[in-house]
Amino acid sequence: MDIFKYMNKHGHEGMLVCSEPSVGLKAFIALHDTTLGPGCGGTRMWDYATEEDAMLDALRLSEAMTYKSAAAGLALGGGKGVIWADPHSSNREVLLRAYARHIDSLNGRYITTTDVGTTTLDLEMIRLETPHVVGLPTEMGGSGSTSILTGLGVYLGMKACAKSAWGSDSLQGRVVAMQGFGKVAHETATHLLREGASLVATDVSRKAMEEASGLGASIVDTEAIYDVDCDIFSPCALGGTLNAGTIPRLNCAIVAGGANNQLESEQDGKRLQDRGVVYAPDYIINAGGIINVSCEIGANYNEARARQITERIYDTMRDLLNTAQQEEITTAEAANRLAQMRISSVQALREVYRAN
Ligand code: NAD
Repeated sequence: MDIFKYMNKHGHEGMLVCSEPSVGLKAFIALHDTTLGPGCGGTRMWDYATEEDAMLDALRLSEAMTYKSAAAGLALGGGKGVIWADPHSSNREVLLRAYARHIDSLNGRYITTTDVGTTTLDLEMIRLETPHVVGLPTEMGGSGSTSILTGLGVYLGMKACAKSAWGSDSLQGRVVAMQGFGKVAHETATHLLREGASLVATDVSRKAMEEASGLGASIVDTEAIYDVDCDIFSPCALGGTLNAGTIPRLNCAIVAGGANNQLESEQDGKRLQDRGVVYAPDYIINAGGIINVSCEIGANYNEARARQITERIYDTMRDLLNTAQQEEITTAEAANRLAQMRISSVQALREVYRAN
């Protein structure tokens, strides 16, 4: 992989390679665009197959964070941390503390929180080494788990898509196939079940599958999830699961889930559209978590305010669906336009200030 070519093409500002051989730390912190504010995004801990996979994930995820915060109207830029390690490794504390020293060295240009493989407990360890961490437990004055509002946003995004697909935003009696049943899927499922939807779920973790089954979901194999006859397919695991191989297999009217970077490539948005599937751009409907932590930065966290901002996801999603239809573009393109317009208008304003 030509790392500089990739970063130039995608507009990344930089990437910190974090190493601490004494504890086996291998991590990357990618900063994409900090026009709107410091790069903010979670830390993922995952046992990637290769160094390149880990690096590319950090780069792709940081870019998605730029767009997510921009579209949600937040004063934050895009950043993401990736620790290349088994999430079940026994030396978690030392790994996290060593990693946190690297975050600290960026002096606030990157602010972290949770992601796949990390929890609020991990953030407490990170906080021992750096103040640049949000999503801390409420007992520590933080905003608590990001998954709660992420799940709410995903659910509301599904409802907005339902209104467009079926004329009503009710999800009662609808079948939702959930790929991955971790923190976000669990929160989303709670809302769906309350409304009378039924669930089909899969996960690579036995514990997660037991949890889904305990809530009443039917369980299928990880590969079989793409073929489930459902109303909504909800990617809630890792990214890149919507691609040329999987999209033709889907039997749903809507794709709406919490996972970041669901589309493997730009063409996949068009592939979904060509199949008549309403696609909720991932970073629009999974913005609840970043909205929640943004309310912790520079102010006393207020849950009601965070919830109120998250609830706007319904209207943003409705607007995007209308724009996509009117302009004959994909919903993913409509979302990118929304985010790019905000970044370029702030950039233009800066240039005006600089010129005067
Ligand atoms: P999590 O680690 O709690 O859950 C992810 C689940 O996916 C795990 O149970 C894992 O076993 C499962 N999984 C991994 N690979 C799989 C596969 N191939 N098939 C089926 N299951 C698989 O993480 P989470 O916080 O719930 O995040 C889920 C997704 O949502 C991620 O893409 C994350 O980046 C994104 N996201 C999370 C938040 C948040 O607030 N936590 C916010 C925005 C976006």
